[in-house]
Amino acid sequence: MLKKWVIGNWKMHGSLAENKALIDGIRAELPALDARAGMVVCPVFPYIPQLKQITAGSGIGVGAQDISEFTKGAYTGEVAGPMLKDVGVEYVIVGHSERRTFHGEHNEQIARKAKAVIDTGLIPVVCIGESLEERQANQTEAVLTAQLDALFAVVGTDNANIILAYEPRWAIGTGVAATPDMIQAVHSFVRAYLTKRSAAVAGLPILYGGSMKGSNAASIVTLPNVDGGLIGSAALNAAEFVAIYKALVASVA
Ligand code: PEP
Repeated sequence: MLKKWVIGNWKMHGSLAENKALIDGIRAELPALDARAGMVVCPVFPYIPQLKQITAGSGIGVGAQDISEFTKGAYTGEVAGPMLKDVGVEYVIVGHSERRTFHGEHNEQIARKAKAVIDTGLIPVVCIGESLEERQANQTEAVLTAQLDALFAVVGTDNANIILAYEPRWAIGTGVAATPDMIQAVHSFVRAYLTKRSAAVAGLPILYGGSMKGSNAASIVTLPNVDGGLIGSAALNAAEFVAIYKALVASVA
């Protein structure tokens, strides 16, 4: 699996026309991806087939924003891993803070969802991160440890096909990214945690997410142990998204 990634979380945005314009814009600004850095877009479920079609041949991967922890059955409104795989999904975001906040998802459930992704043969993008209150109470490392402990208790530590995204909850959608010092400290902490757990997970990509945009991307993706970004708002703008991708490619050049 690639080590460097820029992943766009489109959240509940888009339309057939807007999606097409966005992908056309990305492809116009970036005729070819760099072999060292992956690009993925995660639209809402109904647009996945459209995205598979309009990204064909571009190298841009398509991901989903959620998954059911179950494979089929009486779970109204849920979407199972095999269904996602059926329509060509390759990546699935789990544990996004908006799922935690608005849908009450907790560490153990998120771990089960990550396992559902893995069991389907797809790659989970697992979000971890602290709230502002937790940071102010010096609980950041304890919160991240609990989130990672819960994850690995369910998925085990022999799987190298997992992408982690450190997303401080207070930096998501606020326009205020964490400072490079904060990001650096957390990513070093997470890398040390992974290294202690096993050789297989020691090198997992650790993305940063939270108000990353073209203008601050270089100051973030050049930090040690930052392997790219999970991008919200800026992923809806072709020029911004491509600028972040180019900053990531420049950081590995
Ligand atoms: C996100 O939702 O994962 C995210 C990082 O959002 P934003 O870039 O808008 O802060």
